[in-house]
Amino acid sequence: MTSPLFPLFADLRGRTVLVVGGGTVALRKVTALLEAGARVRVGAPQLLPALAAWAEQGRIEHLDGAFRPQWLDEVWLAIAATDDAAVNRAVAAAGEARRVWVNVVDDVHASSFHVPARVERGPVQIAISSGGGAPMLARHLRETLETQLDESLGELAHLLTRERARIRRHYPDLGARRRFFERVLAGPIPALLREGRFDDAQRAFGVALIDDKPDTLPAGSVALVGAGPGDAGLMTLRGLRVLNEADVILHDRLVSAEVLALARRDAELVEVGKQAGNHHTTQDRIHELMLEHARAGKRVVRLKGGDPFVFGRGGEELEILADAGIAFEVVPGITAALACAAYAGVPLTHRDHAQSLRVVTAHLKDSADALDWQSLAQEKQTLAVYMGVSGLDVLRDKLIEHGRAASTPFALIENGSRRQQRVVTGTLANLAERAQGHRVQSPALLIVGEVAALAQRLHWFGDAPLTDVVEYETSGSTAFAAAA
Ligand code: SAH
Repeated sequence: MTSPLFPLFADLRGRTVLVVGGGTVALRKVTALLEAGARVRVGAPQLLPALAAWAEQGRIEHLDGAFRPQWLDEVWLAIAATDDAAVNRAVAAAGEARRVWVNVVDDVHASSFHVPARVERGPVQIAISSGGGAPMLARHLRETLETQLDESLGELAHLLTRERARIRRHYPDLGARRRFFERVLAGPIPALLREGRFDDAQRAFGVALIDDKPDTLPAGSVALVGAGPGDAGLMTLRGLRVLNEADVILHDRLVSAEVLALARRDAELVEVGKQAGNHHTTQDRIHELMLEHARAGKRVVRLKGGDPFVFGRGGEELEILADAGIAFEVVPGITAALACAAYAGVPLTHRDHAQSLRVVTAHLKDSADALDWQSLAQEKQTLAVYMGVSGLDVLRDKLIEHGRAASTPFALIENGSRRQQRVVTGTLANLAERAQGHRVQSPALLIVGEVAALAQRLHWFGDAPLTDVVEYETSGSTAFAAAA
């Protein structure tokens, strides 16, 4: 099944639901259905004593004997919970014919709906599905959430439900209402509820509602957020939270779809992507957009690949904001050098091979002469070169000219940390040829230095490096040489 299941929460109050089967599984289902307010019919030749007692008290209706399709008459939902697969399938088939949703316990394929694993906090319910294929995983997630979500979440939901109409009257504007909610959630009320001080919480809520004048134009702000190299798991928790509060997200092209999918659904997404030689949006226009939205009271997130302060022009953007008197914050991200090194198995420093790391950019056409090649060419240091795909021949020539050995290893990492990651290794001498030979494309990060050769032994993510370097052991220490 390739399409995902469509989640929904069903209101079963007063609606008839059929459970076929009279054993322990059926009892569990009947219990949950009664809790949800359903009118439960149980069809089975035999009932557990607990079910039989309920039937006697009239809490459930009992249909005796073997399953008959007529049992599904006037039924909204059915659950087949017998231990006889043929009976279960007959229920599913009869349900299908009558357009009644049927769940067959422990049979994904026969079911037209699944019952999710769930976490309950009062009226708040979190339903978890693995698509039916990995119920143990769903169960595991449920256990994790159970430990993370405080019991008082239910009380909070009750309070907000009670006050809903009053909140809406006070804050007819959606944006203002959201900010009010955030103030409430960030304030003392959740803690009061956690401590069981319900009356105090209610009082605090009343005060918050009256004290906070409905702010017609809240102060806008900009958060400069590093999205990391692409894998959403490499974004920080703070970055994620800020992203969740954003009204407008101005993002680079480098920011992956996976990360953007984490943004609040109703946030406005604007791509202001820039690519070497292909400027979609000029830097000035980006500045304008930030100012415009922030001045309109929006919470703007300027989302950048990697880290905003590493070749991200974050500094320039903050200067503009500071001049305009707009509040800002910066959330760092995992920069490409760190991510690519980690995902290629290249330690950037190493007691034996590299005592320092230099982070440089290689827009070499314009700036080759401005760089201090003498110091860049020193041994036992690692160079992490950003934006380097086009100037590799210049880089090689300059480094060798200034004394770096032609046999110095390199690792060129394309799409680092992403599924499509490729790592090309070699020595400085054949850097440009190998990059061309493998048609390495942007985004790619170049690591030059003795440590790059370790990728052969330490790679762990994706495919093995494409290599022409061999590594051999000499009396305890590792040495490297170009293959013949
Ligand atoms: N602020 C970003 C860098 C922006 S400059 C950061 O901190 O990572 C863009 C350059 O970053 C690209 O040309 C490439 O050299 C590098 N880069 C960014 N993401 C990358 C990735 N996933 N894999 C390889 N290189 C990447």
